[in-house]
Amino acid sequence: MFGQMMQQPLLISSLLVHAERHHGEQQIVSRRVEGDIHRYTYRDLASRARRMAKALAALGVTPGQRVGTLAWNGYRHMELYYAVSGSGAVLHTVNPRLHPDQIAYIADHAEDQVIFFDMTFLPLIQAVAGRTKAVKHYVAMTDRAHLPADHKVPGLLCYEDLLDAQDDRYEWPSFDENTASSLCYTSGTTGNPKGVLYSHRSTVLHTMAGALPDALGCSAADVVLPVVPMFHVNSWGIVYIAPMTGAKLVLPGAGLDGKSLYELFESEGVTLSAGVPTVWQGLLAYVDANGLKFSTMRRSAIGGSACPPAMIRRFLEVYGVRVIHAWGMTEMSPIGTAASFKSKHPGQTLDERLAVMSTQGRALYGVDMKIVDESGNELPWDGKASGDLLVRGPWIIASYFKNEGGDPLRDGWFPTGDVAKIDADGYMIITDRSKDVIKSGGEWIGSIDLENIAMAHPAVAMAACVAAFHPKWDERPLLVVVKKPGVEVTREELLAFYDGKIAKWWTPDDVVFVDAIPLGATGKMQKNKLRDSLKDYKLPTA
Ligand code: AMP
Repeated sequence: MFGQMMQQPLLISSLLVHAERHHGEQQIVSRRVEGDIHRYTYRDLASRARRMAKALAALGVTPGQRVGTLAWNGYRHMELYYAVSGSGAVLHTVNPRLHPDQIAYIADHAEDQVIFFDMTFLPLIQAVAGRTKAVKHYVAMTDRAHLPADHKVPGLLCYEDLLDAQDDRYEWPSFDENTASSLCYTSGTTGNPKGVLYSHRSTVLHTMAGALPDALGCSAADVVLPVVPMFHVNSWGIVYIAPMTGAKLVLPGAGLDGKSLYELFESEGVTLSAGVPTVWQGLLAYVDANGLKFSTMRRSAIGGSACPPAMIRRFLEVYGVRVIHAWGMTEMSPIGTAASFKSKHPGQTLDERLAVMSTQGRALYGVDMKIVDESGNELPWDGKASGDLLVRGPWIIASYFKNEGGDPLRDGWFPTGDVAKIDADGYMIITDRSKDVIKSGGEWIGSIDLENIAMAHPAVAMAACVAAFHPKWDERPLLVVVKKPGVEVTREELLAFYDGKIAKWWTPDDVVFVDAIPLGATGKMQKNKLRDSLKDYKLPTA
């Protein structure tokens, strides 16, 4: 027997329709790349998103086609989120910190029909534009007054011109909730970046769970400022959570330095924020140096990399801000766990509570997780046994875009590449990483790419790139090299060899020369052993 309830697809457009109807006067405040502060409401957002949906159709974008963005957190980016996905096309947010070669690869792989970009990224677009085969139009996210006459992008279109040509009489179409809605590439796995393709259903379910009190805990009474970029997994869902809850939204644009962020926190009364640990270091350094306090901020979600317990303590003791330490992945939409209390915790000592807050947290409803040993046997949740962390659920990847890399699942579970232990209360702690990657300031650096470049140097017999601890960036790449016999090469020569081949910030911080790199039975480099042998090594930049 079936239940007798309405069948209504879970669509992203419904979040905006709800925000317009119930929170129409709520504000969205953006620091524009033009330099000023822009203010409007959810009602304005909804109207302009409808006009943009019509503009996309006029450009020839049809349902299922991909539309790329290279943009900061701002209101025009929000409009694209809803116009593209709401009309049945797929929003592809591109990370502008990638090298132009990677951006061109990703845009072609995704077959982006149109790419919208903030003016900051004009030089990047000029470097990419001639190299992509798929892209038919480039649109500058600005008005005509801010469009430089001497740009070098053939046929460049202007965002506000596209909007001016349309009215807002548009009905969001209804379609299957499993329709693809947005696409994010991740370099968090080896080889070329792979696309993670979200659906309307996965997104709406993630939105509902992400807003719950034990996750971000976002409500209509909040003022939320996502420092985490919209090109990092939809700013961890906040682009959807804010309209669903009716929270005031504050978008910081390119102003991610401590001073610019602090000014917005205070002037807009921000109560809730989210970002990677590196960003908070910058913000706290500014606040400390100037003897300031947060007058309204109460909670801040920190994730993407492990948040140092000292930062959690400092936020709580000095600033009265509760850190919500969260863990997730691009492949998980991204939120998997959040470190929220259970009813027994408020009575505990500060140290005990800080220990709970420092874990990566408990699984949200909708995320099933387990830890397994090398043979795949499930390990106990005793806070001691640690093993490969596997997850499954309705907002977790089933396969990469275009089935790149084959079936990623193991018996229906997604192997995260993280190694973890879980205690009897379900709190998970990441203890290590089995995947071969480096995460610097919340951004991936592909160790394989760095090794391949080093191996192309005539003096290098074998090269391995591993993550070395850095107090600011959490991890920085360290190149470990075995030289060919009788050939000389210096650290400086090897580092200079990276020039122009990768994004500058990917360049290793140092080179260590060794006699041999440990190899396993199949001839694979044993990075774990290598990392162990380097545990006393300190980066010169640290
Ligand atoms: P991304 O796909 O860029 O979101 O990266 C996901 C990966 O970042 C995870 O698999 C972890 O390795 C790492 N990560 C994310 N959040 C945390 C956290 N709170 N603590 C430790 N590592 C984290």
